[in-house]
Amino acid sequence: MTPEYDLLIRRGTIVDGSGGAPFVADLGVSDGRIAAIGTLKGGAKEVVEADGLVVTPGFVDVHTHYDGQAIWSKRLSPSSAHGVTTAIIGNCGVGFAPCRKEDHATLVRVMEGVEDIPGIVMTEGLDWSWETFPDFLNALEVRPRDIDIAAYLPHNPLRVYVMGDRGARREVATADDLARMRALAREAIEAGAIGFATDRVKNHLTADKQFVPSYAAATGEIEQIVEGMAEGGGGLIQFVPDIPIPGYQDVLAPLIEISRRTGQPLTFSLATGNDSRYRGADDALNMSEAASRTGPRVTAQVFPRPIGLVFGLELSANPFVLCPSYKQIADRPLDERVALMRDPELRRRLIAEAPEEGHPYTMMARNWAWMFPLTERPNYEPSAADSIAARAKARGVTPEEEVYDLLLQDEGRGKLLVALGNFPDYSLDGVLDLIKHPNAVIGLGDGGAHYALICDASYPTFVLAHWVRDRNGERMTLEVAVKALTSNQAQLMGLSDRGLLRPGYKADINVIDLAALRLNAPYVVNDLPAGGKRLDQGADGYVATFVSGKCIARNGTPTGNFPGRLVRGRQPAPAQSAATNR
Ligand SMILES: [Zn+2]
Repeated sequence: MTPEYDLLIRRGTIVDGSGGAPFVADLGVSDGRIAAIGTLKGGAKEVVEADGLVVTPGFVDVHTHYDGQAIWSKRLSPSSAHGVTTAIIGNCGVGFAPCRKEDHATLVRVMEGVEDIPGIVMTEGLDWSWETFPDFLNALEVRPRDIDIAAYLPHNPLRVYVMGDRGARREVATADDLARMRALAREAIEAGAIGFATDRVKNHLTADKQFVPSYAAATGEIEQIVEGMAEGGGGLIQFVPDIPIPGYQDVLAPLIEISRRTGQPLTFSLATGNDSRYRGADDALNMSEAASRTGPRVTAQVFPRPIGLVFGLELSANPFVLCPSYKQIADRPLDERVALMRDPELRRRLIAEAPEEGHPYTMMARNWAWMFPLTERPNYEPSAADSIAARAKARGVTPEEEVYDLLLQDEGRGKLLVALGNFPDYSLDGVLDLIKHPNAVIGLGDGGAHYALICDASYPTFVLAHWVRDRNGERMTLEVAVKALTSNQAQLMGLSDRGLLRPGYKADINVIDLAALRLNAPYVVNDLPAGGKRLDQGADGYVATFVSGKCIARNGTPTGNFPGRLVRGRQPAPAQSAATNR
C-alpha cells in the first residue's frame, strides 16, 4: 500500500501563522503542499513525532541582500538556519541586473560601498552569465538552493544599464532614458520581479565614496519606473529614506504620492534612535496609516532588536582600527596581531592613541555607552550597566583599557555589539510599540550584506526566544510573533501561497523546540569566494525545517536537500480544500 502522505508531522502544537490560538494536531504533506491538518490516519514516507514541539509556517524574510550569495552558494546562510524558507533579494536598490559587461565594476563598487561586501568576493563569485533582468532570474532559477527566493528589480543597476556613465554620475534622465527604464521595469515584472527597490540614504556610498547612481533620482524617474511596474502586472515599491534623520517626511511623502497615483503598495525602512524614542518614527507610521486608508497599503519595516554592528579583531572594525599604531599591524594574521597586542608597550600606546578620521561605521567604534560585550549567549537587549562605559567605570579603568582586554579574549576572537540605533533608553519597549502598529512589519535583517560587520539575519530566532519567552517586561504571544514572521511577510510580498499552515498552502514548515530555542554567538567563517570572511550565526532548537515538504536541516545540520526555487512574481492563494478536520 502506498503511504497516504510524503510527510506526516504528528501531534505538534500548530501555530498556523494566522495569529489564531495554537492547537495540537497532525499535519500531512503531499507533493510539496500541505494536504491535511487534523487527526490523520494513514502512513507517510517520513514521520516527525512533534509532541511538545511547535509547528509553524516557514519564515519569510522580506529584506535581504543575497543577490550575490544566491549565485555563488547553495545555502542562504545564516537565514536558512533560523527558520527562513523564503528570502527576498534586490532590496535597497542594489543588485547585479540588468548589467552590461562594461558596467560590472560599477555595480560591484556600489554593492561594495553600500552593503560592505568586498569587491574581490563579487569579482570572483559572480560569473555574470546574464545581462538583462530576465536573464538574471533565469540564472537564479537554474541554480540549486536550500530556500526559495524572489527578487526586486533594483534601481541602481537599471539606471546604469539605461544611462551608462551618465547614470553613474547621477545626471538627470532624459525623456528617452525614462521611456527605456519604464519599458524595462515592465519587462522585469513580466519575467517575475516581485517589485522595484530604490534608496535615498546619505551614508549609502559606493566604494569610491560617491553617492549611489539613484541617489536623488528625480521623483519623475521613480514614477515612470513604477508605472512600468504597474503595466507589467504590479509589485511592491521598496524604499530606504534617510530615516531617522530629521526631514525624512519630505523624502517619504513623494514616494507615498507615487504609490497612490500608480496604485502600487509601498514599504520603507524605519528605525528609531538610541537616546530617546525618535518621534519621527511615529510620524512615519501615521503617514503610512493615513495613506493606506485611501490608497495602496504603505508599511514601515522595523527591526526587532538594536541595529547592531559586531566589532572584533577578526572583523571590519574594532575601536582601535583607526589608530596609527594599529594600522601598522592591521594586515597581519590574527594570531600575530594578538601576540603583538599582548605586548605591554603596544598596549599602552594603543590605549593612549587618538583615532584618525575614517569610514562612518568605524567612527562609531568609540561609542562606549552603546557598546557591549557579545558573549557565548549574546544579549541583544543589554542594560546601561552592561555597556563598556559603565563596565570601565565600575572597574576604575578607561573604556579603551576595558575594551582592549575584551578584544583579546578567546585568542583575539572577543566580540563587541555596537547598538547603532533602534534601542531607545536601553530598552526595546519603544521598538515593540512600533512593531505593534498595523502599518509596521518586521524587516531589515540585511542577510547577505555587511558580511564582516553585521549579523542581523538571525532575528527570527531572537523574536521567538527573546520576545516570546525570555524578555523581562512586555512580551509577544507565540501566535502573534509567528504571524509577524510568516503571513504578515507573505502578504506584504503578495506571496499568498505561503505563510499559513492550511491545506493547499506550500509545505514550508518549521518544527521548533521552543524551550530549547537559543541563539548562539556569531562567529567568523571564511567560505566566501576568494576566501572572503563573513559572520555566521547558528541556533539550537530548530528540530526540522522543510521547504516544499523537503527537509533542509535537522537539529541545525543541513541535510543536503536543495528544494529552494525562484519565485516569479506574486502568487495566488491556493483554492481552499475542506481537509482540515479539527
Ligand atoms: Zn538593505
